Amino acid sequence: MLLMRKQRVLSIADFRYVSIHCVHCNSTLILDLEGEIAGRRAYFTPAACSVCGHDFDSALTNLNMLNQVYKKLAAAKNAITFSGEAENEPFES
Ligand SMILES: [Zn+2]
Repeated sequence: MLLMRKQRVLSIADFRYVSIHCVHCNSTLILDLEGEIAGRRAYFTPAACSVCGHDFDSALTNLNMLNQVYKKLAAAKNAITFSGEAENEPFES
């Protein structure tokens, strides 16, 4: 029996959108990591749901840092990959 190792690898170039699910109204807000922050918004991540107005979990404000890092890495994004935990699958031959 052989053991094959399957690993998910994603490039940072594959990431562009971040989705935030509102647990109060079941809506999904999609934010563009490459987009510019416009209008009255001062930060990438809104503090509250734009549909129902409930505040998002304060932990989501960390997405503001993700957006800053994403933009700083933009020039090198084709050189960066992320991988998940390796999965071992038995392989019958
Ligand atoms: Zn909502």
